[in-house]
Amino acid sequence: MTSQSTFTEPEERLELRKAVAKLAAKYGQEYFLAKARAGEKTTELWAELGRTGYLGVNLPEEYGGGGGGIGDVAAVLEELGAAGCPMLLMVVSPAICGTVIGKFGTEEQKKRWLPGIADGTSTMAFAITEPDAGTNTHNITTTARRDGDEWVLNGRKVFISGLDESANVLVVARTEDAKTGKLKPCLFIVPTDAPGFEWTPIPMDFVSPETQFQVFVDDVRVPADSLIGDEDGGLFQLFAGLNPERIMASAYATGMARFALAKATAYAKERTVFKAPIGTHQGIAHPLAQAHIQVELARLMTQKAAALVDAGEDLAAGEAANMAKYAAAEASVFAVDTSVHTFGGNGLTQEYGMGALVGGARVMRIAPVSREMILNFVAMHSLGLPKSY
Ligand SMILES: Cc1cc2nc3c(=O)[nH]c(=O)nc-3n(C[C@H](O)[C@H](O)[C@H](O)COP(=O)(O)OP(=O)(O)OC[C@H]3O[C@@H](n4cnc5c(N)ncnc54)[C@H](O)[C@@H]3O)c2cc1C
Repeated sequence: MTSQSTFTEPEERLELRKAVAKLAAKYGQEYFLAKARAGEKTTELWAELGRTGYLGVNLPEEYGGGGGGIGDVAAVLEELGAAGCPMLLMVVSPAICGTVIGKFGTEEQKKRWLPGIADGTSTMAFAITEPDAGTNTHNITTTARRDGDEWVLNGRKVFISGLDESANVLVVARTEDAKTGKLKPCLFIVPTDAPGFEWTPIPMDFVSPETQFQVFVDDVRVPADSLIGDEDGGLFQLFAGLNPERIMASAYATGMARFALAKATAYAKERTVFKAPIGTHQGIAHPLAQAHIQVELARLMTQKAAALVDAGEDLAAGEAANMAKYAAAEASVFAVDTSVHTFGGNGLTQEYGMGALVGGARVMRIAPVSREMILNFVAMHSLGLPKSY
């Protein structure tokens, strides 16, 4: 018989959750939204997460990290979201960039890049999306050409989060295979202030302190050792960052959903317009209960996906991480919508902060991988149906 404890997180993880929740409570949604609405950054919170070791909890200890797994850093992000402070850049800096460099970087690269990612003093953004390729990342056209001791990058990127808060960005570009002439994806670290690397903000209807940018990469020169890992293993290396990315997106979504549901439930217990509090009516209570169930299911799948990644079972992790991301995004959209509705007109006032969550929940259906591409993946890989695209 399987013991009950198989389905619960280890004591250490639960303690980590508590400690992060306590730290995040000092900031809260009021702080987070005030920063976002003023066009400012959550620098103090990021710095504190770095100082306390929570930001780099998944990175190896010998490079300044906490020696934990992706499940730990996902728990940190989820608890921040549940306290009203979902930190989008945690998806990219410690989880995608940190994982890829930690797994495939040379000793020199790990020593150089990981400590700053871990303590938050040198945040790293991630740039794969391009205006013409979109979801079809196999069609990206940003290229890297070798010129003596340097790589020369050219191309365009779009929707890149947090360039203004990052010292560097991990750019996915393609190099030409000398033998076959085919283009293959490779990963390069580019300083955000490199000459020829120009970025402009995209005005977004998404209430969050992070900004998205479109990027022009025009003859950007970086030294040879900016290439992470092996030129021939780029695709494999890129995939290593995708499961963590999906797990972090799930944590972002479920944290936000928990925050919305906690606020809405508290409101439903107090607000009375007929004889009893509105939470007495099943029209209000049932959707909240449904949303809570969906969020708990999504959290369970996220924890499973993280456990598989941490156990090195990448293939099974791929399926679970996609499913977790799908479930978490759907649960979050429903939970936030239900919460807004529970507040009635107050659901859209700035005072209650519910309306501000709508964009964030919705983003998780689109990014980093869309709902449809996950359904395509599951149809093909889990169900064996023909490829549709
Ligand atoms: C807030 C935010 C932050 C982001 N941050 C980053 C970042 O830091 N770095 C980065 O590289 N990118 C980032 N992105 C980009 C994000 O990953 C892309 O927006 C996402 O991958 C979708 O690509 P697209 O916007 O080009 O949509 P498109 O590819 O144009 O797709 C549009 C719609 O068509 C659907 N569709 C496309 N093909 C199919 C198909 N075969 N079957 C069914 N449906 C299909 C999609 O699911 C989607 O709903 C961010 C985006 C947002 C909104």
